[in-house]
Amino acid sequence: MIKVSLNWVNEHIQGHWQGAGEPTPEITGVSIDSRTVSPGDLFIAIKGPSFDGHNYAQQALDQGAVAVVVSRDMQLGDQQLVVPDTRYALGQLAAAVKREVAPVTIGITGSSGKTTVKEMLARILTLHLQGRGEVLATEGNFNNDIGVPLTLLRLTHAHQYAVVELGANHRGEIAYTTGLTKPDVALINNIAPAHVEGFGGIAGVARAKMEIFRELSSTGVAITPAHSDFHDLFVRELEGKQHWLFSYEGAVEKPAKQGLTVWAEHIELDPQGCAAFDLCTAKSRDRVQLAMPGLHNVSNALAAASCCLAIEIPMTSIVQGLSELQPVPGRMWVHRLENGLTVIDDSYNANVGSVRAAIDVLSTLPGHCIFVLGDMGELGTDARAYHEEVGVYAREAGVNELYTVGVLSQSANDAFSGEHGARHFDNKVSLTKALLQLVQERPALTVLVKGSRSAHMEQVVAALLANS
Ligand code: ATP
Ligand code: MG
Repeated sequence: MIKVSLNWVNEHIQGHWQGAGEPTPEITGVSIDSRTVSPGDLFIAIKGPSFDGHNYAQQALDQGAVAVVVSRDMQLGDQQLVVPDTRYALGQLAAAVKREVAPVTIGITGSSGKTTVKEMLARILTLHLQGRGEVLATEGNFNNDIGVPLTLLRLTHAHQYAVVELGANHRGEIAYTTGLTKPDVALINNIAPAHVEGFGGIAGVARAKMEIFRELSSTGVAITPAHSDFHDLFVRELEGKQHWLFSYEGAVEKPAKQGLTVWAEHIELDPQGCAAFDLCTAKSRDRVQLAMPGLHNVSNALAAASCCLAIEIPMTSIVQGLSELQPVPGRMWVHRLENGLTVIDDSYNANVGSVRAAIDVLSTLPGHCIFVLGDMGELGTDARAYHEEVGVYAREAGVNELYTVGVLSQSANDAFSGEHGARHFDNKVSLTKALLQLVQERPALTVLVKGSRSAHMEQVVAALLANS
């Protein structure tokens, strides 16, 4: 974080301070977790569903916090700034730091691939800078109304670029976080049934994601996939704004004719499922070889390339960055074991779009393929239908066997079966046991493991890797 005085902080969060004169000490960081407070930090007491930071305000001061931001008088004299809403104060402070540092900023939202695109962008922009500055990128999954401010607060004057992931569990969340971030370039990577519960259906998801465009300046660029089901809606919403489109051969018929800014042609998948393709613009054509499996990563690469071109990053850095990037753990992370078993760890998360993408990859790989699915969460009242849909999709794509665990995944299993092999398990332990047994019988086996965060399918991956 940049060094600022407590007075500067207070100007931006409009707190009530009880000390004499002005609150002058400098703060060197912001923390909302008393366990990680460092001397010199400002502690902001946030109230969550199962905790209240106010209970830890004194502890934060004992650990060296310069002051605390609280929403009620904690009798801490000149060590407290009292505000009506500490969450809002966190956001206002983050927005002020963003304005002060003023890096070129890219905001990313979408149902899947945000973190992957973010990693691509961070790699390309770092390459481009060649040490002449730094890139701030969201860490882990800090993409909500707390995570985005905490990300922006990490900015220093060394940062030339900021790549910020904006997620949403409810309407209005992106409107809020994009208001703090004020991106120069805003991307909707895709829309798929994910977190549908909080939005009243998939059209609600699309509208919520479109909140990312609200804060674009007149010179800002909005980027969306031309192959999205919501393409027409995006076009309508973005009329009068700079709107760039990307897509690829196969997803649209003749890429260059669809008014695209960036597109992919001559896509070839290698035996590992990784794509090589021509990355095309009206003025250029460059061959890119990805190290990450799946056509969906071609789409992600095009999204990242579009964001970079919108801020005038040269194509050489884009091509090099895309080719160098390795898979992100938990997302199509391929483990080839000596006994012939290939485990593709895609256990990080799942929604209908990313399950389809995973099935597409699995079905292009040689040998006997098993898709292992845990439940997809937060899909609302249509959850069973969505699970059935992916069961049918897996069967039609030619997946050899489907192994499922979880109440909802039973529906995927029912939809898949017939003459095809489908087995449902009561728990992950019995599922893993069955898989390990199969490995003994069939050495050349590819197993792709996927499920929502709540399904913890990484446990299956860990057990397979440990016992094979
Ligand atoms: P989250 O909302 O959990 O933060 P995210 O949008 O950041 O997710 P990633 O973490 O990059 O997305 O990927 C999550 C899952 O989606 C992985 O299983 C990955 O393989 C899959 N995925 C990545 N990109 C796409 C895409 N463009 N289309 C469909 N699925 C994708
Ligand atoms: Mg993410």
